[in-house]
Parts: sequence; C-alpha cells; structure tokens
Amino acid sequence: MKKRLNKTNIKNKTVIIRCDFNVPMKNGKIIDNTRIVKSLETIKYCIKQNTKIVLLSHLGRVKTEEDKKEKSLKPVAEELSKLLEKEVKFCRNTSGKEVEKEVKSLKEQEVLLLENTRYEDVEGKKESNNDKDLGAFWASLGDVFINDAFGTAHRAHASNVGIASSIKESCIGFLIEKELNALEELKCPNTPFVVILGGSKVGDKIGVIENLVEKADKILIGGGMALTFLKAEEYEIGNSLCDAEHLEFCKNILEKYPEKIILPVDVKVTTEFSNDTPSSEKDISQMEFSDMALDIGEQTIEIFENHLKDAKLILWNGPLGVYEFENYKMGTDKILNYLATSHIKTILGGGDIVACATAAGVNDKIYHISTGGGATLEYLEGKKLPGIETIDDDNIKG
Ligand code: AMP
Repeated sequence: MKKRLNKTNIKNKTVIIRCDFNVPMKNGKIIDNTRIVKSLETIKYCIKQNTKIVLLSHLGRVKTEEDKKEKSLKPVAEELSKLLEKEVKFCRNTSGKEVEKEVKSLKEQEVLLLENTRYEDVEGKKESNNDKDLGAFWASLGDVFINDAFGTAHRAHASNVGIASSIKESCIGFLIEKELNALEELKCPNTPFVVILGGSKVGDKIGVIENLVEKADKILIGGGMALTFLKAEEYEIGNSLCDAEHLEFCKNILEKYPEKIILPVDVKVTTEFSNDTPSSEKDISQMEFSDMALDIGEQTIEIFENHLKDAKLILWNGPLGVYEFENYKMGTDKILNYLATSHIKTILGGGDIVACATAAGVNDKIYHISTGGGATLEYLEGKKLPGIETIDDDNIKG
C-alpha cells in the first residue's frame, strides 16, 4: 500500500497537492464542479493540519498560446473559494520567481492555486514529457507532495511523477485512497464475482478481459462489442458494429471459456444509426442483413439479472447499448436500476458507464464509481500506474 495522508505528518508544513480540476467548461464557466467537490476532503484536512497549501492541476490540453486563454484555472480558484468558504489565492504563473514569491508569502491555512500545469506544454511539452527541472522546481516549493489526481495517475507527468521523484516525502490523498481501496477488492474478489462489459470495441477491452477472465465467475457481454462476439459464433449481425480485427480473439476466448462468457440472446435492432428509425426486438438468430443492433433485448436483461442476483462483487465497464439514444438505453438503465436496488457491491469502472449512472440518478446507490477513465481502465488491465507507483510506500501497518 502507498503512504496515506492520515499516516503522514504534515502539521505546519507546506504541502503541494496535485488535484484533478480538469472540469468541463463552456465560455469560461464551469459546467460541472464534481471534480472540485471531490478534492475538498483532502484540502480541508490539510487546512485543519495548519499547513500552507499549494495546489496544482491541469485543465484540458494546451498546445498553443491561443489555447491558454480558454484553459485558465482562474474560474476553478473562484469556485473552490466558494466551496471552501475561504479565499483561494491564484497565481497566473506555473513556474519562476513569481511562483516562488507567492508560495513564500503564504501563511498557515492559506491556499494558493497555480495556473494550469499544461501551460508548460507550449514550449517543449515540459509537463507532459515529465521535464526533470520542472518537476524539481515544483517539488522545491514544499515539504510534502500529496497526489490526489487519480484521473492522470496513468501518465508520468512532471506534476505527479516529476514532483514525487524529487521531493523528500510523498503520499496519496483521500480521493486516490478511496479509488485504490475499492479497485483493490478486484485483486482477490469475493465470489461469485461477475464482470459486465459493454461499449463499442472489443479491441479496447482485451486487456481487461485477459486480466479478469480467470478471476471472474461470469463475464456478461453487451453493447457493440457483443456483436463482434456473436459474429465470431457465426451469427448474422447485419450492419451492426463489428470489430473485425478482433474476431479471432473472440473465437479463442469463447472456446476457452464457453461457460463463463455470457452473450445476448436477443437484441433491439433498427436499420440506421439513429434514434428515429423504426426498431424491434429480435432473437439473435433472426437478425438480417439490413439490421443494426443497438441494444440488448428483454430476455437478455432477464438472463443477465439472473447471473447477477447471487454475485458478491460486480465490476461493470461500458454501456450495454447506444445509451445516448433514448430508444437504446433500456438495457443499460434496467441493469443499473437492478443493481442500485439490489445492495450488491458494484464497482462502475470509469468512462461512459459513469455518465449513464449519473443520468439514471443512481450514483449514490452504487458502492463505488471509479471516475478515472483511462487510469481506471489501465488499472483493470493490471497495469501499474506511474503516478501512484512513485509515491512513497507505507511502512506503517494498519
Ligand atoms: P466505450 O468507450 O468503448 O466504453 O464505448 C462507449 C460507446 O459504445 C457509447 O458511445 C455507446 O453508444 C457505444 N455502444 C454501445 N452499444 C453499442 C452498439 N450496440 N452499437 C454501437 N455502439 C454502441
């Protein structure tokens, strides 16, 4: 386990917290402040510990001087100030004398947010290429580094790996700790352990399938990727999504784990990728050349629920249909609602399924919603996350 914040002595020190303030913005306004809200626990704890607090985060991608205008963290400082009910200072620079001066003038319990770390990408991609001097500069600003940005933990950037490698002491914040606690349950899962996989391409999920197939009791497959599996079983899938490059992979895995992989028995089809063309439910054996399957059918939902009902742990990644279309979100919504009312420990593993859960209003009834996107997926593939690997190990038990 990595060193945790509440096991680290930060009292009266200067802490550098790498937050994930990569919030959606429109015309300079924050349209969803969830990520800022999620960072509050760590920041408030540091205030209580009488520390001087320097916050770092990226916001979007910054390649040119022009990009900078739209990608300033200034609105985040204002929002954070409202949420904390205290002043949050904002420094328009990311490195240099001005930053040093502002940090030096901080008093205990004061909070300073530096400008978007990716401003450093305009010249030589210093942040994203983990420029050694930049990481060392940020590390020089404080005594302890706290990484609380799970969403970028799969990247080795100057603002995570760079700082952690240059500073004397580092730990993970409460947000990353929660993510790791939940995701670590997947290493030795309580059984029956059932995995639900959806989304578009088989190719994107191969790593997850390979990493979890031995541990899982069942893998329920829906979404566009189910059609590639059905094609591998030689069903006619018409114009449905097919990840032809990975047909062979599907064949092999079905042959190796015939009892484990559960595919749809019926689908909701239409003729065009549209919400408005007429649709019907069909057994998979009835699909025709002109059909395009965009959701799982009622019988499949029932079968999936039967496999889920006795599960002790469920991991779900990827929607079971084109949930963006009102007419093809039924499968995803029904299974989400089933799990939300079942009290089965369910982990939603990042990406689109998190948006589905939010839209369905079931977030607070799900055991853990992993918001890491790419980081969650890489974790599920069994990969090490460099942003976490470089943090000090916890030598204290308990
Ligand atoms: P992913 O990013 O791989 O998790 O894929 C998410 C996307 O898969 C969403 O945009 C869904 O609309 C899409 N999707 C789910 N089911 C289907 C389907 N049957 N046909 C085409 N796209 C699908």
